[in-house]
Amino acid sequence: MVVGQIFKIHSDFYYVNSDNRIFECKLREVLKKQKQKVFVGDNVEFNNGAIEKILPRKNFIPRPSVSNIDQVIIVSAVKEPELNFLQLNRYIAFANYHNIPSVLCFNKNDLSDNDNTIEKVFSIYEPLGFDILFTSAIEGYGLDEFKKILDGKISVLCGTSGVGKSSLINAISGINLKTKAVSDKTLRGTHTTRHCEIIPINDNSKIVDTPGFSNLKFDFLMPDEVDNLFREIHCYKASCKYPDCLHIHETECAVKANLGKIDETRYESYISFVEEAQQYKEKVKYHGIKKESAQKNTHEKISVKISSQKREKSRNTKKQNIYKDIDNE
Ligand code: GDP
Ligand code: ZN
Repeated sequence: MVVGQIFKIHSDFYYVNSDNRIFECKLREVLKKQKQKVFVGDNVEFNNGAIEKILPRKNFIPRPSVSNIDQVIIVSAVKEPELNFLQLNRYIAFANYHNIPSVLCFNKNDLSDNDNTIEKVFSIYEPLGFDILFTSAIEGYGLDEFKKILDGKISVLCGTSGVGKSSLINAISGINLKTKAVSDKTLRGTHTTRHCEIIPINDNSKIVDTPGFSNLKFDFLMPDEVDNLFREIHCYKASCKYPDCLHIHETECAVKANLGKIDETRYESYISFVEEAQQYKEKVKYHGIKKESAQKNTHEKISVKISSQKREKSRNTKKQNIYKDIDNE
């Protein structure tokens, strides 16, 4: 039996990399019958072109689906487009939810004139323990560091369109990433499958080429779970009077008592995500969408949405942590 990692899926074909050799495989009938889902990034055992077993995943990101990611590089631009802290915090919380370490990269450094963006970024995110990079894909600034961060890992780059993700990869790798994802909308309406692929960018670094992670709303968890994604807020929770305190309007809230120690933009983002989660909670109440939360902390959770018309069985294979969404095929 040979072990390898799926780097691309094309209809029924699974492309597996094993020791830098590429194998085109199909899925064993028995796995199909068990309705086993296979994703880009999955480590598999295969034999004679047939995938026999999917090995346990260390993490999984839906929409587009990819597993076993080492890190998320969250790319923002210091200008053009203007740095959006809400969006940045959204990506951070998203990576945190999926138990994937994140690195913050601020590109277009060449455009930052004497403003205080750099100071502000450091003052907010350094105390939270993030690796922070400033780069300019155009002027070549910070690219050695950027390369080093990617070294030996499988990374996902995320960030708003136009911040320079493709330019950064192109600048350090000599490959030529398409700068705008080609729309592959089919006639299947909103259930468009969006592909991703793991591509090597040099000897031992790989990135996931994705059309981007859209629709990152916190509409899949309960409002009182959102603070798990903000460590500087969560750390006070045990001292709040109410165990389900949302740290917004409650009395005797330890978070509110310590607001001076929490960055304002981070707290504002937290409130926005709680509001999204509240909308989700309402939906659960009124539209019969059930949520089963097996959550103890952000690293152990399974959330399953089940619509009243279309039910899917929850599947918990070994210790896989999977967030499944009926919209995600
Ligand atoms: P993506 O959508 O995040 O992949 O962004 P692209 O790589 O397509 O870049 C969007 C635009 O920003 C392009 O016009 C790039 O030339 C420009 N750009 C990318 N990196 C930099 C940079 O470091 N400095 C400046 N001034 N422009 C950049
Ligand atoms: Zn509180």
